[in-house]
Amino acid sequence: MKFQLPQLPYSYDALEPYFDTETMRIHHTKHHQGYTDKLNKAIEGTKLSNEPIEHILREVSKHSISLRNNAGGYFNHRLFWNILSPNGGGEPEKGSEIQKAIAQKYSDFDNFKKSFKEMAMNRFGSGWAWFSLYEPTNDLFISSTPNQDNPLMDDLVEFPGIPVLGLDLWEHAYYLKFQNRRADYIDAFFQLVDWKTVERNLETARRVASMA
Ligand code: MN
Repeated sequence: MKFQLPQLPYSYDALEPYFDTETMRIHHTKHHQGYTDKLNKAIEGTKLSNEPIEHILREVSKHSISLRNNAGGYFNHRLFWNILSPNGGGEPEKGSEIQKAIAQKYSDFDNFKKSFKEMAMNRFGSGWAWFSLYEPTNDLFISSTPNQDNPLMDDLVEFPGIPVLGLDLWEHAYYLKFQNRRADYIDAFFQLVDWKTVERNLETARRVASMA
């Protein structure tokens, strides 16, 4: 098997009381495992089985809908788990690259959070909200995509980029605890975001962009 379900960098109950244990367990062992298995099945025996996930995503329109959904699901959840931490929340450290990048574009953190929440609230149905680097200008931007699409699918999405932070807006991510209260779920998410990891993602994205 080419792609493997990544282990979570914390236990299923570590994100309580914001994200509940049961949701984390089902989300990881059923949903993310399902995307991973179906992705592997879709690429089995094809030349894609030797390609990094980012390359598959960037040319995803050449392939089946199933590959698009499952490659997206695999990548999106991997990013999502990594930017969460029991020690997360709060604001990026003053003077850090991510703090400066947010301040430059959104003037302050609260304004960024408000814009991100608005984008996440306005996604109709299932999808994701993103904070990404737009490679040609090195600019950060907020966007949202339906289903398991993401900004790396640059031949499909309206606003392409390299995501540094993503929020799962599928009901499977929050319904057990929050039911229809997506706004409360988004607030809980911000209590868990590990800004140091988001900053590392930004550094990696800038490196990738500078090589393109
Ligand atoms: Mn999900």
